[in-house]
Amino acid sequence: MNSQEIQSLYVRVSRSESSILLEVANVIWEGPHTPITKWSTYKKLPQTSTEVQMVAAKEELLKNPKHFLTCQLCDRLKPIGWMHGDTMCHSCAESELGIVH
Ligand SMILES: [Zn+2]
Repeated sequence: MNSQEIQSLYVRVSRSESSILLEVANVIWEGPHTPITKWSTYKKLPQTSTEVQMVAAKEELLKNPKHFLTCQLCDRLKPIGWMHGDTMCHSCAESELGIVH
């Protein structure tokens, strides 16, 4: 996934009357094969935010290691819920270590 795809799947913007909410999906595993997506608010931006400010806020979110990490093996940005530890994503862990999730 490139950062564009990551954004479309795991980042969303919702507007309320007073502000713009930047939300991020947290992937939680309810079983070994049951990922559940829970949305939480990452940042509240003023309603007057410009497109440029929104893009900057999204980029900042994608760089936040609490939510996204780059896999050191395949060099792809992954939501933290899809990481196997801090350095390797689930798919790489499966192919490199033979770990089955
Ligand atoms: Zn990987």
